[in-house]
Amino acid sequence: MNTVRVVNSSRLWDNQLKSIYRPAQFARAYMLMLLVLLASVFTVLELLAHHQTVSGYFSNAQSIVRVQHETAAVSQLPKNLLPEQNNPSVFLLQKLATPLPPPPANCQVDACLALTFDDGPDAASSPIILTALEKAQVKATFFLIGSYVGPNVSIVQRMQADGDDIGNHSWTHPYFTKLTADQIQQQIDLTQAAITAAGVRAPVLLRPPYGAINQAIAARINMPIIMWNVDPKDWAQKDSNSIAQMVEAQAKPGAIIVMHDKLLTAMAINKIVTDLKSKYRLVTVSQLLNLDPASHGIYFGR
Ligand code: ZN
Repeated sequence: MNTVRVVNSSRLWDNQLKSIYRPAQFARAYMLMLLVLLASVFTVLELLAHHQTVSGYFSNAQSIVRVQHETAAVSQLPKNLLPEQNNPSVFLLQKLATPLPPPPANCQVDACLALTFDDGPDAASSPIILTALEKAQVKATFFLIGSYVGPNVSIVQRMQADGDDIGNHSWTHPYFTKLTADQIQQQIDLTQAAITAAGVRAPVLLRPPYGAINQAIAARINMPIIMWNVDPKDWAQKDSNSIAQMVEAQAKPGAIIVMHDKLLTAMAINKIVTDLKSKYRLVTVSQLLNLDPASHGIYFGR
């Protein structure tokens, strides 16, 4: 009984094995394993193939992060390490280094004098004179020849913008004493028109060419006539140092100093304004004489 049972149980086991591991089932299992293996291989290959792209994504992302970090780091630098044009502290220092304009002169008590420049505007010399005046923060008076205004409009506008006085010095620089009343008026009117056409206020001062005037002519001119009481004869000097020496030697409170808008004079102006500024308030003729629109007559100084 025992043997039969063993045989029976052995056959049973064998039958069970056969039922489990039938060749068809083995084949299916092998196919499945092969598919899994192939899928794994493909997956690995695909991962390898994408590795560069993935690395690229990572490196791109790292670059973006690095740039963001560097930008943040730059914005946190002390301001004085930034480029000058972007640096608010440099702008502020420049502003602080520019002196405030001086308070208005009171020529009743201050030692005032007026520098005047005839025969401009001149493309070469006017800008040099204007730059020197602007740098020193002082004012002057320009008596313009009307026929020179058209080609130099921006210079005339700059004179007005600077607060300088602009006066009439005739249209073609003739001796008024040799002209008729109508011719004189035409010389004055043409020049007024040229200056206002430049977008500048009509002059309220007149200086006759060569200072050639008399009471009869003056009585017909409806503007104050501005002569001078200091003449360094800049037109006769050989060099700019001589011009500066002559001006400084003759300067005095209340002076109207006549000079010319010419290159040699222009080269002397930096020195003249720097030296005179320490002793005088350099003002316009209108300020020096306290002129108003109703003022008439001939003025030589204060
Ligand atoms: Zn002149």
